[in-house]
Amino acid sequence: RLYNEVQDLKGNIRVYCRIRPFLPGQSKKQTTIDYIGENGELVVANPLKQGKDTHRMFKFNKVFGPATTQEDVFRDTQPLIRSVLDGYNVCIFAYGQTGSGKTYTMTGPSLSSVENWGVNYRALNDLFNISQSRKSSIAYEVGVQMVEVYNEQVPVPDASMYEVKSTADVLELMNIGLMNRAIGATALNERSSRSHSVLTVHVRGTDLETNVVLHGNLHLVDLAGSERVDRSEATGDRLREAQHINKSLSALGDVIFALAQKSPHVPYRNSKLTQLLQSSLGGQAKTLMFVQLNPDVESYSETVSTLKFAERVS
Ligand code: ADP
Ligand code: MG
Repeated sequence: RLYNEVQDLKGNIRVYCRIRPFLPGQSKKQTTIDYIGENGELVVANPLKQGKDTHRMFKFNKVFGPATTQEDVFRDTQPLIRSVLDGYNVCIFAYGQTGSGKTYTMTGPSLSSVENWGVNYRALNDLFNISQSRKSSIAYEVGVQMVEVYNEQVPVPDASMYEVKSTADVLELMNIGLMNRAIGATALNERSSRSHSVLTVHVRGTDLETNVVLHGNLHLVDLAGSERVDRSEATGDRLREAQHINKSLSALGDVIFALAQKSPHVPYRNSKLTQLLQSSLGGQAKTLMFVQLNPDVESYSETVSTLKFAERVS
């Protein structure tokens, strides 16, 4: 059963590392990826540095190299998604510096190419397919909500819940969302790397024989870029944004760290982001973090800081 498949996953927190490929035109760039093991080992090194102790080793539940497809990634994500239909709460994050592939993993490069769909669409598609296949015994209702957390504020107008019956409904909703965003395309695109975007999926299943109702929710989170901002250069709005991002990402790190340590006190209240996600972090909930890396040597120090964040929570 699906349930057992999920129980088999080690603990409730998993961390997958995904390394994006070099983009067209970047073929001459030097990589920091030294070794990818079958069992989640990753070794990074700065190719510009010589000498001893230049390599750093990390361990994840899984490492997806640059050639990994969206389908490959989803195969290892699917059991968690399916557990939502059994009444579990699940939270999936993409963490990493801007340009490391967070949006690619969660959403995909564009809405039109089905084979490049990211986790969000595949997850909803899968939920609809399974709920259809169970419809003689369980009636499922699915609602989605999209929220952007910017500067520690959750804007209310975007927060309505829409009932959806198919992936087409979801795509339509997202297209409307994208159209609204196109109004200030450059500004918002810029801003999107400085806000957390949270897609929430609520599932309610009624057992047609017993009338027992199950609730599960899924949070799919494309986090703000984790890059450190130079305090000497940022001022005004930019500095405030950076401080808010820093605050919410470290609060998230603290929550996941506390959960991983099975600490009796989990500091959910330290940021809007962790408050919003509280129902799907901790308790019986299952958490998956995609740690995204840009293999370019110029990103080496951000890569190491991303990996250190991940190491603390895994
Ligand atoms: P982020 O959301 O972390 O800022 P993006 O998802 O926008 O990063 O990715 C940056 C660029 O790299 C985009 O052009 C994206 O299409 C490309 N990219 C990211 N990951 C992959 C991948 N796995 N395969 C191919 N292209 C990718
Ligand atoms: Mg992005």
